[in-house]
Amino acid sequence: MPVEEKKNDTGNRRDFLKKAAAMGLGAAVGSTGLGWPGRASARTGTPSGLMPRRPFGRSGITVSALSLGGMFDILNNRLMLAKALEWGINYWDTAEMYGSGRSEEGMGRWFARNPHTRKQVFLVSKLSLGRGADFTNRLEASLKRLHTDYLDLFFVHGISSIHEMTPHLKSWADAMKKAGKLRFFGFSTHSNMEECLEGAARLPWIDGIMFTYNYRLMNEPRMKAAVDACYRAGIGLTAMKTQGGGPVKRDSDTEIHMAGRFMEKGFTDYQAKLMAVWEDKRIASICSQMPNLTILGANAAAAVDQTRFSASDRALLSRYARETCSDYCAGCGRFCLQATDHKVPVNDVMRCLMYTHSYQDLMLARSTFQTLPKQTGALLDRMDFREAERSCPRNLPIGRMMREAGKLFA
Ligand code: SF4
Repeated sequence: MPVEEKKNDTGNRRDFLKKAAAMGLGAAVGSTGLGWPGRASARTGTPSGLMPRRPFGRSGITVSALSLGGMFDILNNRLMLAKALEWGINYWDTAEMYGSGRSEEGMGRWFARNPHTRKQVFLVSKLSLGRGADFTNRLEASLKRLHTDYLDLFFVHGISSIHEMTPHLKSWADAMKKAGKLRFFGFSTHSNMEECLEGAARLPWIDGIMFTYNYRLMNEPRMKAAVDACYRAGIGLTAMKTQGGGPVKRDSDTEIHMAGRFMEKGFTDYQAKLMAVWEDKRIASICSQMPNLTILGANAAAAVDQTRFSASDRALLSRYARETCSDYCAGCGRFCLQATDHKVPVNDVMRCLMYTHSYQDLMLARSTFQTLPKQTGALLDRMDFREAERSCPRNLPIGRMMREAGKLFA
């Protein structure tokens, strides 16, 4: 980089930090060690406005545009549920495996003490096929933990191919709906999402989908078409992992420029990434993990904010996405899995690394890693990943990352 340009960057950074300090954000932006969960927010505290609600596909139901992701110990954080309802966040998401059951138990304790709120909440839980096919007993156990007779929406957790949604599952869902235990049925996916969405659009019994969707993926042609097909089929769409891997290149020129620009508009780049997804009206809600009041307040404030994105805001986010493309695993799966003969679930291991680095949640990363096939840990260090690296459209250094995962999780 020419010296002159470098000087300007230093100057910009200084200006940016000055503005940040003036807005009370110095600690957040001055540190390179903070991931998004630690960031302060330009819009914090009590959201000043009504939480927007959006139709959830063809269900006839509207849900809050922000959904409370319950992937944390809710049993010890039930204040979050009270605040979520107070701020109009009525879509609550949990799963059998979250917090080893403590997420469902926490929501259940809430409903036991506040039974009148059950009908106000659009309650979602999930079961993963990888933990066994006995869905009926496991659903009963979830309902018991949640202290409720029914789920508003049930997701088969984390599918990576539409073929996992078998006719047998359809019959099971029909029976559970008839028994009044489920109102709506669908799946979540963070792997091979486009293929899952394309297939779902052809299955009239899929009511809802939660999928990885963010500023990195939303402009890719195949993803755009898949989302459109589901939207036209009346499937309720919930976006997750909207931060696109978090601030992967801290202090890069574009990231600093982007953070400064959004701050001038009154919000953080973290909030801006949420707002970019909300700009897509086909998305009913964003499910965000919000384990503390700072994040809940910042996200709620961003959801009620009426500030519109400009074309240059969108261009800036796209530039950042392009520049950091090789730092983000898109979860496509099929290339690296084929290259490793499906022996190592590279995309899932990448997700564990993302939980570690972006969410700074090593416990979650380790518990997710434990759900992967048993041989995974032993192969991370031993396997040759060069073919997988050659096949990866994002040129990720898979070998190095798998070895890092081996040290962290195996
Ligand atoms: S490592 Fe590459 S090929 Fe594999 S899922 Fe991630 S982006 Fe796709």
